[in-house]
Amino acid sequence: MKEEKKTKKVLKNKLPKAKKQFYYDLLMKARNEFMTQVKFHADEALTSQKDSAGERAGMATHMADLGSDNSRHDLELGLMSSEVDVVEMIEEALQRIHDDEYGICLDCGDLIAEARLAAKPYARYCTRCKEKRESMEDPGRRSR
Ligand SMILES: [Zn+2]
Repeated sequence: MKEEKKTKKVLKNKLPKAKKQFYYDLLMKARNEFMTQVKFHADEALTSQKDSAGERAGMATHMADLGSDNSRHDLELGLMSSEVDVVEMIEEALQRIHDDEYGICLDCGDLIAEARLAAKPYARYCTRCKEKRESMEDPGRRSR
């Protein structure tokens, strides 16, 4: 076990049991939803690959203005990987509930507003830090 207390303040956010349960339930629900999405897009990606043989011609025509079937395949894979990222963030958040570190901004160490957590239970940063991060990023690029 490495102690890193001298460089980083170890913050705890001891939540009442009912609050813990509330966020735990929210996270598990979100996790299920995203897992379903990941599976859906994985299936779509596989199907769209098969489709390039032209089995479902009607579909291919319909998708024509979105580009080739190949780019649809890439799109599905792209959606899937960002959903996999969210599932990872949810897993981390569940771990932080367990460690009494849930709801603490990973950047500044402030508590994340409860309204924000209720809307996005896997949020890693407070609104202020999130906005700061977004303004530093290229527009259109997703944050991790
Ligand atoms: Zn912050």
